[in-house]
Amino acid sequence: MPYGYNGKILHVNLNDLSYEIEEPSENFYRTYFGGGGLAAHYLLKDLKPGTDPLSPENILVFALSVLTGAPLSGFSRYTVSARSPLTGGFAETEAGGFFGPELKFSGYDAIVIKGKAPRPVYLWINNGNVEIRDASAIWGLENAETLDKIREQVGEPRARVASIGPAGERLVLVSTVSNELSHANGRTGMGAVMGSKNLKAIACRGDAKNISFADPEKVKELVSWHNKRIREHQPNINFSKFGTPMFVVALNNAGILPTRNFREGTFEGAEKIGVPGLEKILKRAGSCYRCAVACKRVVELDTPYRVHPRYGGPEYEALASLGSFCGIDDLAAVAKANEMCNRYGLDVIGTGAIIAFAMECFEQGILKESDADGRKVLFGDAEGMLWLVDKINKREGIGDILAQGVQRAAEKIGNGADQFAFTIKGQEIPMHDPRGKTGVGLSYALSPTGADHIETPHDVAFTGDGVNYIKPLGLLEPIDPVALDAAKVRFFRLGQLSWSMNNTLGICNFVAAPLLALKYEKIIEAVRAITGWETNLWEIMRATDRSQVMMRVFNNREGFGPQDDRLFRRLHEPLPSGPSKGNRIDEEELRNAIRLYYQMSGWDENGIPTKAKLLDLNLEWLPEAK
Ligand code: SF4
Repeated sequence: MPYGYNGKILHVNLNDLSYEIEEPSENFYRTYFGGGGLAAHYLLKDLKPGTDPLSPENILVFALSVLTGAPLSGFSRYTVSARSPLTGGFAETEAGGFFGPELKFSGYDAIVIKGKAPRPVYLWINNGNVEIRDASAIWGLENAETLDKIREQVGEPRARVASIGPAGERLVLVSTVSNELSHANGRTGMGAVMGSKNLKAIACRGDAKNISFADPEKVKELVSWHNKRIREHQPNINFSKFGTPMFVVALNNAGILPTRNFREGTFEGAEKIGVPGLEKILKRAGSCYRCAVACKRVVELDTPYRVHPRYGGPEYEALASLGSFCGIDDLAAVAKANEMCNRYGLDVIGTGAIIAFAMECFEQGILKESDADGRKVLFGDAEGMLWLVDKINKREGIGDILAQGVQRAAEKIGNGADQFAFTIKGQEIPMHDPRGKTGVGLSYALSPTGADHIETPHDVAFTGDGVNYIKPLGLLEPIDPVALDAAKVRFFRLGQLSWSMNNTLGICNFVAAPLLALKYEKIIEAVRAITGWETNLWEIMRATDRSQVMMRVFNNREGFGPQDDRLFRRLHEPLPSGPSKGNRIDEEELRNAIRLYYQMSGWDENGIPTKAKLLDLNLEWLPEAK
């Protein structure tokens, strides 16, 4: 009998509205554990290279882990994957909230979706029963109305729903899948893939008692140990008290708060959009399933904009992307833009980055009023920013060009716009400037999904005594945040495995090692108590390495190579002012570091995992290993 998971994977064919249930072996779950690795297995096995990401042939996977839904704080995350319409490569985007645990309780560990429904539909999974229901009456609705209507239609007010908004229906390439209105699988355009399949939502309901644990008493003991430590461990106390918005002022003080399209690293309005400003509109803290940290911020405003608390509130990435990155210090407007993104199903990072790119194009005279209904939107123009969010959602006028993401928009606009278009593998950049933390730069350059900030520990936390957090990984010396030498590559390689392990296990980075309350040995105790497997850190790190390698193989099949493992012009230029003034990333040093990373990872000089590496990781079923 499986412990911690169901042993069932739901395969849905939307072409003929049918489904099948697969019951993989225990070894399958123990090989992939969950998340992106589990999804990569299906994409590598069944998706033909070169498939149009928005065609019915693309495969969309919702993947939990063997731990998702266990009652420990932060064990709530799930992954959505497909071939990304934004990057053309592997898509992996995680979210917390409540949907992942509910899907587990409803009877399935993953959903693999193929085809395109002949009309809009949604899935309703209720304690193992599956229905594919007509969604004609909810197609076109925003996320809150969608949630309400589906709950009403299925007659279950406690149903959890992952849905797309109008942006996903219109195939906006920075559209999200959203659960409970404020938790988004934000990156890589998964909303557009769902929209292309005429799939409006997945709703589910189940009983937590459907999942058993191998050692329920030990699970209880771990829950109370973890929740107690969350209340005592200073980094977690900070998360509970301030949430991620605390990073606005902290990064500004370090001179690496992304500002005006990466032109600067300090923002004069940081206090206004950071914690000091946010406290004034804070309604309460928000949380994910059974999490004692409750790091989410829920805000409410009546004026000058109505900001509804149902949609949560801006976290760090939204405050920076829609705030400092666009030169906007008007917190009410940033909170409104965040709410609009959650309503429409738009990625806050992608949307903010696109608007900042457009602002710089206006400033440089590349875009003109005549391109945008007689309007010129410059850095600092809060009303203009809100207007553009709306235009992108509706794909109207200039919004239709911007809805395709920065890279494609720059190609369409021409006239030198590409000089101000900053993406990696076609994905917009998260709100962390690698000129003050080069490990994050390596992460951006090497991520299979394009720039990603949750795949590696951020260097600045491991200077001085901070090294104690990573000693269990065998990293014994403090990290120099701006070095790009062999020690940094070693730190990045092990740190990437450590943080990606959280993605593989569906654990939130804000509750677990290296920095936060749940130590490595406790993670292992939790996996053992939940699944009953006699496992250890080594086996789980290997599973994580396997996931990373599978994603790399996927991208290699799609034509990605060393030329795509790169940063962009502005990061190679010095920061012009502030505490990190003069910091830049040297292109040659970066290239050498990437070559060294390939070697440390068992990849050849073209960034292709060797046959020996594939065989070592039990991937002999891949054609590349023959
Ligand atoms: S720490 Fe925050 S983001 Fe992570 S699970 Fe808890 S509430 Fe969710």
